[in-house]
Amino acid sequence: MSSNTAGEVQMSGMDADVMIVGGGMVGLALACALKDSGLHIVVLERAEPQPHYSLARDCRVSAIVKGNQQILEGIGVWKYLQDDAEPIRAMRVWDNQQAGGVRFDASEIDEMEMGFLVENSSTQAAMHQTMLESDHIEYLSPIELSSLQWFDKSVQLTFADGRIMHTPLLVGADGGRSWVRKQAGIGCFERDYGQQGIVATVRPERAHGGVAYQRFLPTGPLAVLPMSDGLCSIVWSAENSEAARLMAMPDGDFLAALNVTFGPVLGRIVASGERSAFPLIGRLTDHFVRERVALVGDAAHCIHPLAGLGVNLGLRDVMVLAQEIVDAHRFDEDWGELSVLNRYMKQRLPDVLSVMASMECFHQLFKHELPGLKNLRGLGMRLVGNSGPIKALLMRNATGLNLPVPRRIS
Ligand SMILES: Cc1cc2nc3c(=O)[nH]c(=O)nc-3n(C[C@H](O)[C@H](O)[C@H](O)COP(=O)(O)OP(=O)(O)OC[C@H]3O[C@@H](n4cnc5c(N)ncnc54)[C@H](O)[C@@H]3O)c2cc1C
Repeated sequence: MSSNTAGEVQMSGMDADVMIVGGGMVGLALACALKDSGLHIVVLERAEPQPHYSLARDCRVSAIVKGNQQILEGIGVWKYLQDDAEPIRAMRVWDNQQAGGVRFDASEIDEMEMGFLVENSSTQAAMHQTMLESDHIEYLSPIELSSLQWFDKSVQLTFADGRIMHTPLLVGADGGRSWVRKQAGIGCFERDYGQQGIVATVRPERAHGGVAYQRFLPTGPLAVLPMSDGLCSIVWSAENSEAARLMAMPDGDFLAALNVTFGPVLGRIVASGERSAFPLIGRLTDHFVRERVALVGDAAHCIHPLAGLGVNLGLRDVMVLAQEIVDAHRFDEDWGELSVLNRYMKQRLPDVLSVMASMECFHQLFKHELPGLKNLRGLGMRLVGNSGPIKALLMRNATGLNLPVPRRIS
C-alpha cells in the first residue's frame, strides 16, 4: 500500500481498490456507500446498460422497510428516489381462515410509514445518478468474466476478451447464481420451494390508502402492495403447476382468479398489466467471505419473497461491509484480508439467519392445513393483534429500526 498526495491510502499496482461484480440494487448500493471513501471502485455488470423502464415493461418492485429507507438516505440515493416511492402506512395480514387477521399501523411505532414501495428500475436509476456524483466510481458493462486467480495481495480477474484487472478486494453482488461464489469455491445450501412468484401491476376499484395486504394461503402467499396512481403490485406465490396455469390464462380469467383469491377488500380488481414469473429458490452460503472475496445480497443468501426482505437484507450487508472497508482504509489495514472480511460476516450472520428462520417458520405455518396448525395460527394472530408491546417489538424488528446496522458511513 502507498499514500497519495491527499494522504489517502492506495493499493499500488491495482486497477481498483474494490471491484464489485454485479450492478443490481445491492452491488450499486455498495458503490454508492463507498462514493466518498476516496477509494477507486469499479462495478462490473454483465447486462447491457438498461434504459429506465416504464411500468408497462418492468413490474418488479420492492418493499423497502423504514430502516433501509434511512440507509438509502445515508448513501445519497433517496433524494433521487423519493418522488417515485409510495409510502406503506399499514399492513394487513390474514389467512384463509381468519376473517380479520392482524393490522399493523406505522402510527403504533410512532412512524409515518413502515416502509416504501419502489420499482426496482427506479431504485437502480437513482443509484446510477448517485454514482455520477463521484469521480472514483467506474461502471463497466456489458462485460463477460472468464476466470479468477488469487495472489498474495490481490485477485486477478480475467475477462472473456482477454483483459486483466487486479484488486485487493472483489465483492460478489452477482445474484443467486453467483459466478464469484462459484469461482471462490464457497459452498451453498439450496432449497427449491417448488413455487413461482408471479408479479404484475393491477388496478383495484377502491383506493389502497397506503395499506399493504398479505394473504397467506396453503398454496403460497399473495401480496397486494400499494403503488402510485391508485395502482397495486401483486406478488402471488404459487406451486409450479398452479403458477404455470395462472401464467397461461387470458387476462380476464387471471383477473377472475385473482379476485376470488384476494377477496373484496379493495373492491374488484379491474385491470392487470403484463405478468412475469420468478422461480422461488432459497439459498444460504457456507461463508460470506474468503481471502480477498466478500459476497453480498442474493449472492450470499436468497430468501422466499413472502416478507419482501431480500433486497433489504442485501442493503444491510452493504452498510456493514462498507463500514468495515472504510475503517480498514482509515487505519491502514488491508481491507481484502480475511480478518477484516470476517468482521463483516460476523456482524451480518445473526440478522440473516434470524430472517431466514422466520421466513421458513411462516412458510411452514401457513402452508399446512392440519387442524392443530390452523389453531396455532389463529392463536398467534390474536396474540400479536391484541398485545401492544409484542406487536410494537415485532414491527420495529420487521422495519429494521431496531437493528445495529449503520445508516450512514462514518
Ligand atoms: C417475486 C419477487 C419479489 C420480491 N420482492 C421483494 C421485496 O418486496 N423486497 C425485497 O427486499 N426483496 C424482494 N425480492 C428479493 C429481491 O428482488 C432480491 O433479493 C434482490 O434483487 C437481490 O439483489 P442483488 O443485487 O443481490 O441481486 P440481483 O438483483 O440478482 O442482481 C445481480 C446482478 O449481477 C449481474 N450479474 C450476474 N452474474 C454476473 C457476472 N458473471 N458478471 C457480471 N455481472 C453479473 C446481473 O446481471 C444483475 O444485474 C423479491 C424477489 C422476487 C423473486
